[in-house]
Amino acid sequence: MQRGDRDRPSKSVRRPRRGRAILGRPSVFSASLAAATAVIVFLAVFSHAARQEAEATARALGDLRALLNAAGCSLDCATHEIAYGLYTIKPATDEQLVRTALWLRTELRLYGVDCLPRFGLRQMSLCSGLEVEGEQRGFHVAYESERMLISTDVVESNELFATRALHHELSHIMEGRMGRGRYEDPEWNATNVHGMEYGEGGHLDRDPWHSIYDIRLRGVLTEYSRASNAEDKAEVFATMMTRPLYLKLRCMIDGVLRDKVALTERRWREFCPEFSESFWGTIHDRRVQMRDELGLPRLSHKLELPRLSRE
Ligand SMILES: [Zn+2]
Repeated sequence: MQRGDRDRPSKSVRRPRRGRAILGRPSVFSASLAAATAVIVFLAVFSHAARQEAEATARALGDLRALLNAAGCSLDCATHEIAYGLYTIKPATDEQLVRTALWLRTELRLYGVDCLPRFGLRQMSLCSGLEVEGEQRGFHVAYESERMLISTDVVESNELFATRALHHELSHIMEGRMGRGRYEDPEWNATNVHGMEYGEGGHLDRDPWHSIYDIRLRGVLTEYSRASNAEDKAEVFATMMTRPLYLKLRCMIDGVLRDKVALTERRWREFCPEFSESFWGTIHDRRVQMRDELGLPRLSHKLELPRLSRE
C-alpha cells in the first residue's frame, strides 16, 4: 500500500464526521418541522372530517325537517339530558342523528304529502337513551301534546324492528284520529276466532319475545297482538307496511288474518285516499328505491330479538 493510499482513508473518515456535525443541526430542525407539519395535516384532516360530518347532519336533519314542516310538524333534537315527567332523554351523536333522520324520512315519505298531515303530529323529537318510567324505550307518543319521541338507539339496535315499531305507533295515532276508542271496536272484534279474548293492554305485556311472528297462532300475528285489539290492529298494519309478502303467506292459511287485513285496508283508505290498492303493492319497491338512492342498505329480515320495547 502506498503512502497516498493510507492518507485517503484518514481523509474520508474526517469528512463524514464533519458532515455529521454540519447535518446534525438541520436534522433536529427537520424533525421538528415534520412533526409540526404532521400536526397541521392531522388537524386539517380532522377539522375537514368534522365539518363534513356536521354538514351531513345538517343536511339530513334539514331534509327531514322540511318534510315534517310541510305536514305541520316541527322537529327537534335533544341537546342535553332532560328528565321530564315520566321520561328521560339524552342527546344523540351526529352519526346517530344522520342515520335516524335518513331512515325516518324514507319511512314517512311512503305515506305521501297528502296523508302525512292527517296524523296530526305537532312535534317529533330525536334523542338517545329514552326511558319511560325507568324502562328503556324506542318510541314514546305523548298524545296530549301530539309529540312523538324517537330514540336513535332503536334504529341502531335493530332497524327492521324500529321500522315496524314506527308504523305500529302511527297506527295507534291514526286510530285516535279516526275517532275510535282505544279498546272499543266491535267491528274489529267480530273478525276474531270465536271465544278469543284480549288481555288488559300492551303496557302489561313487556316480553320482547312476544313481538316475534309466530305462525302457530291463529287469527293474530304475534303473542303481543293478544294484549288488546289496539295492539292487534297496530301489529297487522305495521306488518302490512314492512313485511307484505310474509303477511300474504300468513293470510293464505289464515282466514281471520285475511279479514283483518281487508278491514285495515278499508279503514286506511277512509283515513287517506292515497291508500289505494296500488299503495300496498308498491311499498317494498318504493322503500328499496329510496334507500338505494340514499346509499342505505336493504332492511335485513333476519330474526332478531328487539332490545327496546315500544308502546
Ligand atoms: Zn302499541
